Amino acid sequence: MNLSFSLYRLQTIDTQRQKITQRIAQIEADLASDEAIQACLKAKEQAEQELKQAQSKLRDVAQQVAAKRMKLELNQNQLFGGKIRNPKDLQDLQTEADFLRKSIQELEDLQLEVMLALEIAQRTLEEAEQAYQQCLSNKATQGSLLLGEKHQLENDLAGLNAQREALIQTLPSDVLAHYESLLKTKAGKAVAAIIEESCESCGMTISPADMQAARSPNILAHCKTCGRILYKA
Ligand SMILES: [Zn+2]
Repeated sequence: MNLSFSLYRLQTIDTQRQKITQRIAQIEADLASDEAIQACLKAKEQAEQELKQAQSKLRDVAQQVAAKRMKLELNQNQLFGGKIRNPKDLQDLQTEADFLRKSIQELEDLQLEVMLALEIAQRTLEEAEQAYQQCLSNKATQGSLLLGEKHQLENDLAGLNAQREALIQTLPSDVLAHYESLLKTKAGKAVAAIIEESCESCGMTISPADMQAARSPNILAHCKTCGRILYKA
């Protein structure tokens, strides 16, 4: 049993486990996040608000028009009813009638503008509602893809855990403890392969003596720079 080879295999398994665990955490965060849906919902609510405002403004202008029309009708009754004969009063009524007509015309122009704004607001809301539905459906599709991926990763992880379990049975407990401790202090990488006479982790050149030691089946050699266990294929 070559110790450094076993540890190198263990490291390979652990590196894969780390990657899978990270990806599962990322998937879980993505599944829990509803940022896109919240943005679509916000746009929809904004469009609803704008439509309500336009509707309320339209009602308001219509009421103003109706009130001015009633006033004008009253004015015309007085003007042509025959009861008022004083020229000054008749002149005042005529002035009022002119003013009311002008004011009604302005309000009707405004009414038209508000109706156009209302149409735009309705269209915007329809689009926002469609976009929101699309968001929900995208999220559902993405969710089922992510769940499928997560399921696959969990299977892979279970397989790796079983391999790891079998492998650590073959290792002396002090060696395993040493490996585990390095794994914690060396950012998840306790074993470094020697590639072209250099440590693959820190890049430092390994002395011939350490290369020799790294090949030995029973001795563990360490990189003098980064402290990791060395493995030479
Ligand atoms: Zn190193």
